[in-house]
Parts: sequence; structure tokens; C-alpha cells
Amino acid sequence: MLSNGGFYLGKLLAKVERREEVVKILKVLLKRHNNVLDRQLSRSECSEHVIEMFFERSNKNRQFVIDLFSNSICIREQMETEKFIEQLLACSLPEKHRMLAAFSQTAWGRAKLRTSGALDVVIDVFSSSEQIEEKVAAVSAFRHFVHDTAGMRHLSENSIFVNTVVRDVKKYVEENLAECEPAVDIDFVKRLTNAENGSGDGDNGATHQNIAESVDRLHKDFYSMWSYDTPQTSPRRAQSASMSPPYNAPSPSYSFPSSVSSSAASSPAPRRPSEGILDDLSDVESDNGEEKVEKEDAAEKKKRQEKSIIEGELWLLTWLAQDDHNLQFLIRPDVVDCVVSYLRSTSSPDFRTYRVLRRMATHRTHVYRLLDLEFHVRILTGLCASPCRMLKYAKPCKHCDKCSEHGREILREFASHVDNSYGDAHINSQFTKEDFVHRTKAAIAKIVLVKERIRLAKVPALTELFNALAHVMSSPDNFRELGKMTTYENGPSFASQIIGALSILISGQKIKELCENDMWYFPTEEGAGECAVENAPESEELLHFIDENDKEIVVAPMKKICENSHYFEGMYSSDFVEKTEGIRTFQVQSESCPPEDFRLFIHLLSTCTAACTVVSSAEQCATLLALSDQFLCPTISKQLCADDGPLRTYLNGHSLHTLLPVALATNAHPTLLDTVYLTLVRFSSSEDVTKALEAICENSTVVNTFVTSLRTFLTTKC
Ligand SMILES: [Zn+2]
Ligand SMILES: [Zn+2]
Repeated sequence: MLSNGGFYLGKLLAKVERREEVVKILKVLLKRHNNVLDRQLSRSECSEHVIEMFFERSNKNRQFVIDLFSNSICIREQMETEKFIEQLLACSLPEKHRMLAAFSQTAWGRAKLRTSGALDVVIDVFSSSEQIEEKVAAVSAFRHFVHDTAGMRHLSENSIFVNTVVRDVKKYVEENLAECEPAVDIDFVKRLTNAENGSGDGDNGATHQNIAESVDRLHKDFYSMWSYDTPQTSPRRAQSASMSPPYNAPSPSYSFPSSVSSSAASSPAPRRPSEGILDDLSDVESDNGEEKVEKEDAAEKKKRQEKSIIEGELWLLTWLAQDDHNLQFLIRPDVVDCVVSYLRSTSSPDFRTYRVLRRMATHRTHVYRLLDLEFHVRILTGLCASPCRMLKYAKPCKHCDKCSEHGREILREFASHVDNSYGDAHINSQFTKEDFVHRTKAAIAKIVLVKERIRLAKVPALTELFNALAHVMSSPDNFRELGKMTTYENGPSFASQIIGALSILISGQKIKELCENDMWYFPTEEGAGECAVENAPESEELLHFIDENDKEIVVAPMKKICENSHYFEGMYSSDFVEKTEGIRTFQVQSESCPPEDFRLFIHLLSTCTAACTVVSSAEQCATLLALSDQFLCPTISKQLCADDGPLRTYLNGHSLHTLLPVALATNAHPTLLDTVYLTLVRFSSSEDVTKALEAICENSTVVNTFVTSLRTFLTTKC
């Protein structure tokens, strides 16, 4: 059939009036017999006519010209003329940008695009276009430049390009926000409880396995929230981290795209998601039966295209970062932030993008700039402190593990360039500044990044930080102005940065010991146990608790109450022997707590074991601790703070602001403050830390106690 059909069809293109029907046939042939057609057409010397067709008044054939140019090597060679590019630049046809973009496929085309200024035109369109097809075409054109060093440099030097990538990624993250909501792995804590209770029905093997698992599970949590120089989890990974070559090509699977328009290509292979960017240039296929299916998924298709544009842009960014020359244009706070938030806050991101950050960190030339933009804080709070890492016994989460693993790798690399006299000199120059914020920032960098020096000369930076903490918390006004301020846009509060840096001081061993005996609080179920208040024998003397309006709150057996509270013991036991007539009442200050919490407290005092003693929230826990402190009931405090008590279970980053003030005010139990501090430095987000510190800065005595005891906690080895 195709003995030499292409040749004659090409000849026919010279006749303007025949073009319409010829193009119809050519479209079909292009799909089925691309290579043969290409060879035959190129012999017919039709290239000029094809170019002419693009500039015809009617837009009927323009898409065909783009498709033909994109898919036919021989024809393209004939059409690649400076004149064609000039004509395109001079015209104002809507398809011109996609036509220009198609030139990026050959070395000649790329060089011409760059030197003629057409590449800047494509970049402008890439930045300003609202049309998804145009954006797809632009990104796809840029992808052809990855092996063209001059072209890539041109991209990085054109700030419109980098600005657009940042803007698009930001928008994409906002519209596709999917930050992890960590959840406690209840199955795991149940197994943990069973194992530690030894209630495995003599099944010793399983019990041991459970204990081993619990240690394993906790192991990843033995890093403080801002630590990164932890031992590698596997020797294999340690090797790959230290030995990765300086020029690390982003990806083998992102193969070099062979054609702009894949829909006309003859390969029937299913499209891979990463190639999605190449899909949508041509509508050649839309005149057959597949149209219906495509219409149904219009919204999905748009989502997919948007995702592939973003992935393409980040992929380009990753490539750009491979060239040292380009790094100077990429080391910008907004570039760092957009990569961090893409990795942290979108679902199934392409984790290879982290290489942009890693490349920045590897370059000693830019260490000062990175220090000044607080690169370490951005990585620590954005990647290392990923959501699921910040909850004790959270369900395992690959996403968060990956984020923090990459974050740690980036920081190890960065620290290796800062932790020497060169990097230290810059920090020291900041350290001597008059300005409090500057000085504190330097102290944070020093504690976080300059490891060896810290151990040798711990005092100045550390003292500076504890002083800074005392200063920002010295009054509610100071806290509002200094503690809550951020040192960069959308950054963590200054106070939480100080706590984060201090958190590095805690040893893994200490975290381990504080968590080791942890169990989970499982409230007594309805119907189990016994209520000593309701079932009090009639012969027992009763104590009536009433509110300020003489309304009864609860009535409980006097003997038990006095046994467990030194306060009530002192009040009533002296005249215990005398048989008093009348009822004994105790009036409760109504502002001290809600009546139901007081009732619960009395049930606890009466040593009930039934569901009447269930503590259901951190707030309740806080109220009960305050009550047991007020009424001198050490056994209740002990019970609340026990390994399997409610406090350890309800205490987390979110509830820290409720429990930290009580822990400081009551000193109810020796381990209470330790547990609270551990939560502060290990299991709290920046927002949690800020809220908790704000809750105590009203009272300067409490703040002093806090700073002193926190220092002891962090610097004492266990
Ligand atoms: Zn997660
Ligand atoms: Zn009870």
C-alpha cells in the first residue's frame, strides 16, 4: 500500500486546495506508519509547504504540523531553519509557543532556542499561561534541556523560571494538602500491655517477642526531635549515604523523553505515570471512539496533568541543582521551603526531590548563605520533625520516616561543612553581635551544627540559650514579642526554636529509660470492679461534700477519705472517736473545679475500682492532680502518674499546655516532671511547644523553676 504513497502525498501538499484531504490521510498514516511516512515525505521536499501550512489563516492544520514535526526525524531536520523560528517569533498565532517548544528535541533546536531568545519566550509563556496544554508543552520542552548544560544554566539564570516553579509548587501544595494526622497504634500498645503484664497465659515465647518488638518500635523514637547525627539504621544505607557520587543524576526511570507528542507514536505500551507530561499535546486521536471515556475523566485528567507538571518542574529543579553553577540561583528561602513542604505535606511525593536540598547542603561555598537563611531550622522542623514521629506509639508511617531520614541525611551533610573553623567562624561572628535575636540564632546554630566544639566548650552557647529562654519567657509581653515571633516567613516560633536546639542535649539512653516502663491506660469498663461510694455499708460514717449553694456533690465513707488524704485526716480524725450526731459536711470552692471532676476525685479517694474512676481527658487529669496536691493525697498522684496511669497516656504535644503548668505547680510525683519534659523536647510540634510555654509565662517563679529544672533534666545523665 505504501509503495511510495508518502512521497506523492508530500508532492500534493504544494497544492493549497488539496491540502485538507491530504492532511486527513497523512494524519492516519502518521499514527500507523510513522517511520515509513517520515522517510517518504522527506524525499518529496514538502517541508516548506508544511511550514506554510502552519501560517495559513485557518488553524485547521497547525496541530498536524506540530505532530509531524515532533514525531518525524527526517522531516524535522528539513524544517529546522532559522527562518522558521524567526517567523514563529514574529507571529502571534496561539499555537506558536507549542511549535517553538517542539524545537527543544534536537541539539540544533535547543541551541537556536537559546540564542534566538525563543527560550525566554517559552519561559514567559510557562510563567504566564493559564492553559494547561501550553504549560505541559513548556515543561516538556525544558525537560529536553537536561543534557544541555548551557541551556540548563540559561533556565536557572532566568529568575522567571525559578520563580514560576516556586509559585506553582506552593499552589499545588496548598490545593493538595495531605499532611499526616498521626494516630496511636492501639494494637501495638495492647500487645505492649499484655507483654509487660506477663498475661500471655504462660506463652513465654510470644511474650518475649512482644517485648523485643516494643524495644524495636521505640528505638526509632530514641532520637530527640532535633537530632540528626544518629547512627545509621543499616550499614548498607550508611554506605550509600557517604559514597554517593558528587554528580548524582536524579533518576534512571525518568528517561529522556523521545518525543513531545506520544499520542501519535506507534508504541501501544500503556502510559506510565511519570510520562504523563508527554501525553496531551495532540488531539489526533480524538476523532475515534475513545472520546467518551476521556470526557468522563476530564476532572481527573486535569488533576493528573497538574501533578505531572509539578513533578516535571521539580524534576527540572533537581537537575538544575546538579550543576554547581546553578546552585547560587537556587539557594533561596522560597526554593528550600517549597521543596520541604512538597515532601512533607503532599501525598506520595517524589522523594528524589530531596536531592535539591542535599545538593545545596554539600556545597561549602554557600555555607554562610544557608546559615543565614536558617537552612538547618527549616530542615529540622520541616523534615526531621515529621508529624508521625512526634507522637509516641504512632502507627508506623513510611512517609514520615522517609521525610525524617532524608532530613537527617541533608543535615549530616550540612553539618560536616559547618562543623569546622570555616563554618564556626561565621557563627562566632554572629555570636558576638549586640542584638539578642542574632545572638540567639547563632547559639542555636552552634548547638545544632557544631558538635565537637560544643562538647569541648559547652558553656557559652548553652548558657546563652538558657538565658535566652528565661528572657523570652520573663513576661507575657516578652513572650508575645520575642517568644512567639518567627525568624522567617511561616517559620516556627523563636521560643520553640530554642527548645528544639536544647532538645539535642537529651541522650537516646535517657529517652529510652523514660519510655521503657510505659504502658497504656485502659479505663475500667462499665460493670467491672466495685464502687466503694455507692456500696458503702450503712454503719459507716459519711462525709457530705456540698457546693457553695449547699447543694450536695457527693457523699462518701469518711474512713477511706481520711486514710488517703492527709488533709481530711488532719481535719476530721482528731474527733473520730467521739460519736458526733448530725451530718459532717465539707464545702467545696466551686471555682476550683467542676463538680463532676470533684466527684471523680472522691471516688478515687474512696479507692473505688469501678468505672466511676475513669479519667477521660488530659484536662481532667490536670484537675485531679491539682486536687490531690491541694488535699495532700500522694497515693492519688502516684496512681495518676503510674506507668499505666492516665497521665502518661493523655500527655502528648497537644495536651502539654494543660499538663505542664500542673506538673510545675504540684510536683506531685517524682517522675511527673521528667515525663512532661520528655514530651516537651521529644513529642511536641513547634506549635505545641509555643502554646505550652505561653501557658506558664504568666508567673515568673514558675518560669524560674521551669528553666532551672529543664536544664537539670537535659544536662544530667541518667
Ligand atoms: Zn506520617
Ligand atoms: Zn465509685
